[in-house]
Amino acid sequence: CGIVGYVGGQSALDVVIAGLKRLEYRGYDSAGVAVLADGGLAAAKKAGKLVNLEKELGDRPLPSGSTGIGHTRWATHGGPTDANAHPHLDNAGRVAVVHNGIIENFAALRAELAERGHDLESETDTEVVSHLLAESFSSCGDLAEAMRMVCRQLQGAFTLVAVHADEPDVVVGARRNSPLVVGVGEGESFLASDVAAFIAHTRSAIELGQDQVVELRRDAVTVTGFDGEPAEVRAYHVDWDASA
Ligand code: GLU
Repeated sequence: CGIVGYVGGQSALDVVIAGLKRLEYRGYDSAGVAVLADGGLAAAKKAGKLVNLEKELGDRPLPSGSTGIGHTRWATHGGPTDANAHPHLDNAGRVAVVHNGIIENFAALRAELAERGHDLESETDTEVVSHLLAESFSSCGDLAEAMRMVCRQLQGAFTLVAVHADEPDVVVGARRNSPLVVGVGEGESFLASDVAAFIAHTRSAIELGQDQVVELRRDAVTVTGFDGEPAEVRAYHVDWDASA
């Protein structure tokens, strides 16, 4: 439902939680975050309101890192439980992904993954993506390329945002029929389902087009089609008053 991604010099967790709060108006039934820190990936997720997640983070703090993603979920496949909340990880716990929308062919993909030895732990349509990303990343070693490979296998409407512990300064996003906006800051970059999530930090934004993948670094934003062809992008200035 609500998606936020961040890479930069601030605490990713703080930026992501604040961003999710700005998206609260959308309504949701669970929330979660993942942060890259100390060469690994740490995640927390909880059914219910953001305060439940914040309490969990208070009880069991995540290590602090400067790359992270977050999600508030509106369940479509699988009930609003902790296990079904996003982010979803691969079995090695190296990849985390959050998703808005519906992966229509998830059942077939799930069956194929199970046959290849993957152990899926949730009832969501989303979880196939973290496992497919882990497989594609191990064959190409590049998260943006892995995301393109995975998107070409997916049917449905989706916004996806992912991180991989082996690429600690990168956040990757993908978009088909679901909104995703990049925020371009000074030495920091943002991704969100709505500009409201990052307007406190930057008003320079790039709206992703249909079937595009974006690779976000602190000081670079690279956009391609699902086919890998470079895409023309132009930042625009968000001039509406988001403080209301
Ligand atoms: N279909 C996914 C799920 O049920 C994503 C829902 C959403 O857009 O929040 O987990």
